Amino acid sequence: MRSEIVIIGGGIVGVTLAYELAKRGEQVTVLEKKYIGSGSTFRCGTGIRQQFTDEANIKVMKRSVELWKKYSEELGFPFKQTGYLFLLYDDEEVKEFKKNIKLQNRLGVPTRLITPEEAKEIVPVLDTSEVIAASWNPTDGKADPFFATTAFAREAEKLGAEILEYTEAKDIIVEEGEIKGVKTNKGMIETGIIVNAANAWAKLINAMAKIPIKIPIEPYKHQGVITQPLKEGQINPMVISLKYNDAYLTQTEHGGIIGGVGVEYGPTYDLTPTYEFIREVSKAFIKIIPVLGELLILRTWAGFYAKTPDSNPAIGRIEEIDEFYIAAGFSGHGFMMAPAVAEMLADLITKGRTDLPVEWYDPYRFERGELRETALQMG
Ligand SMILES: Cc1cc2nc3c(=O)[nH]c(=O)nc-3n(C[C@H](O)[C@H](O)[C@H](O)COP(=O)(O)OP(=O)(O)OC[C@H]3O[C@@H](n4cnc5c(N)ncnc54)[C@H](O)[C@@H]3O)c2cc1C
Repeated sequence: MRSEIVIIGGGIVGVTLAYELAKRGEQVTVLEKKYIGSGSTFRCGTGIRQQFTDEANIKVMKRSVELWKKYSEELGFPFKQTGYLFLLYDDEEVKEFKKNIKLQNRLGVPTRLITPEEAKEIVPVLDTSEVIAASWNPTDGKADPFFATTAFAREAEKLGAEILEYTEAKDIIVEEGEIKGVKTNKGMIETGIIVNAANAWAKLINAMAKIPIKIPIEPYKHQGVITQPLKEGQINPMVISLKYNDAYLTQTEHGGIIGGVGVEYGPTYDLTPTYEFIREVSKAFIKIIPVLGELLILRTWAGFYAKTPDSNPAIGRIEEIDEFYIAAGFSGHGFMMAPAVAEMLADLITKGRTDLPVEWYDPYRFERGELRETALQMG
């Protein structure tokens, strides 16, 4: 079998890229070792925010939100702009967020500093007794990862992309710096262009291609929780509290509360949920919204954050191997970034350039010791 472009990894990043490339008339195949979304994507917290602290991530996320909106209408999956509400508890935090809000506003993201009373109007069940202000952007939102990933995959297939599930990349054949093909558990696929979209497994793919530069991406275990339903429409935005263990929570369509806290283990490929997580998530959630103490936890699960030293992904082309690209290391915020990342990479592959600030995610920055300002890692 031959394919012009092979994407390794069928998570949200792999399938949105397949969709972008297929739309541009490129012949593309996605290899997924299990089923699409089975990596981190189906385990994520659904959140999509533009409230970052540096220019590149804000610009990329502004574009991503535009694309989430456009594609949710075109492909028919739900994306809700219900906002992100960061609760702030002391002057230091307020000062920091004022600075971020100024930058976000300059780049066209309409975040505002609001009072605890205004925050309570948005989420009436909040305990605001310790809250002194909040950072509120009504254009942030959430999307269902199952619905969205499947919609992108099916649409990509309609446009001619091949998505091969239960097909694992086992080795990459490179001769004199040129890619010849990918060996899989189901045979060889000849290709000249490979994209590593394997996120938590990206280092294994880099090793197959013998990438000569160091791109430190390690898997860390993070967990999610879902509770029994609360009365509908109580917690529409994603509510964040950095003070209470980096907690994030929101209400799903069926009323349950989904979210997590910053309990982290790793580097590890273990995915066993832990009691420590249940204890810490309960403590934090009840502190933020006391009524949550009345709800039963229905389920917890674990997934990976593929972390880099500055919590920014590595996105770009590896020069030493002709036509090898990477988009991995999303450090806990790759679901939200995917549509913009797909556009960026599709531009790089088909035109050799992009208008989005891809340099920020330069895979060579680690080797050069030029770490970026650390991106805000949630959960
Ligand atoms: C608990 C939790 C909460 C999160 N909350 C959020 C959130 O609110 N918002 C947000 O934006 N992000 C969130 N994230 C992060 C988000 O889930 C990831 O950043 C995102 O899903 C990454 O997508 P991906 O396509 O890069 O990786 P993945 O979805 O992991 O896809 C990579 C795929 O590659 C496949 N693969 C690996 N090796 C091979 C091989 N050799 N051959 C073939 N296939 C292979 C894997 O099976 C996997 O399906 C959260 C993550 C967790 C764990």
